[in-house]
Amino acid sequence: MRVLVALGGNALVAADGRARPEDQVAAVRTAADRVADVVARGEEVVLTHGNGPQVGDLLLKNDVAAADVAPVPLDWCVAQTQATIGLITVDALEHALAARGLRRAVCALITRTLVDADDPNFTSPSKPIGRYLPEAEAQALVARGEHWEDRGERGWRRVVPSPEPLEILDRQAVTTLVGAGFLVIANGGGGIPCVREPDGSLRGVEAVIDKDLGAALLAATVEAQVLVLATDVEHALLSYGRPEQRALHRVSVEELRSYAADGHFASGSMGPKVEAVCRFVEGGGTRGVITSLDRIADAVHGKAGTVVERE
Ligand code: ADP
Ligand code: MG
Repeated sequence: MRVLVALGGNALVAADGRARPEDQVAAVRTAADRVADVVARGEEVVLTHGNGPQVGDLLLKNDVAAADVAPVPLDWCVAQTQATIGLITVDALEHALAARGLRRAVCALITRTLVDADDPNFTSPSKPIGRYLPEAEAQALVARGEHWEDRGERGWRRVVPSPEPLEILDRQAVTTLVGAGFLVIANGGGGIPCVREPDGSLRGVEAVIDKDLGAALLAATVEAQVLVLATDVEHALLSYGRPEQRALHRVSVEELRSYAADGHFASGSMGPKVEAVCRFVEGGGTRGVITSLDRIADAVHGKAGTVVERE
């Protein structure tokens, strides 16, 4: 079976959220071990990953160093995280596969993803990113043209557009390498958001694509049978955080969508995962699963996590 595994941002930093290089390497080694377990069971794996904490750090560097080094745009930040996370993931996977006696070539691709310049999210940005700041400091950045919002107790946070991913622009490279037997890491951070200019050229834009929606699109693009979204909780929960909360095991797309409509899944975290597995299965995928990193090998076969299957 061909399986698209998406590693959540939480799988790429230390448990306490620290993201020093050594923290990221250690976290990715653990993740690579779990992915290698899936390969060891005979599945063909395509990998993607989040990049929230890493992009947040690059934006902070932009701000701190702005007087000395020109800040780089958001699409460059996504590209940089695809490269660094790709690098350490290739290293970790090669090691984990070799330790199991598995010979698979591994590569990471810088991946661009098409979005619509008229996507409504460009005029009403929805994705909070980077650090929290006190109002006065945030207002200084608003004056520079950024969009910041009062997020309550923790302070203000930058909000950027998160347009719908429409097409994996580097799909031919992905499918060719997958077809040649590579374990491909692609479309990290949801992909580098690009719009098509009237003359046909591509232009990167100040936006971030949701990693889970990007994963669903990549899964369909490589014709994966299974999509596994690996995060830090074993199941999607109903009534999350309330005494009556309960885990969802096997669920239909219809049921899951109706729970989503009732507001059970937070928009910045579980919401897009639920949407991603629904889209994947509606689009012809056999099985979409949301689960924790340590359960992914069982999740592939529908034996762990919140499992959505084609009727
Ligand atoms: P990732 O980096 O893997 O994308 P996220 O933080 O975006 O992780 O999403 C996972 C988080 O979603 C969980 O840690 C949990 O705090 C949160 N969450 C929100 N709503 C729910 C829900 N209904 N069930 C389970 N987790 C939820
Ligand atoms: Mg997330």
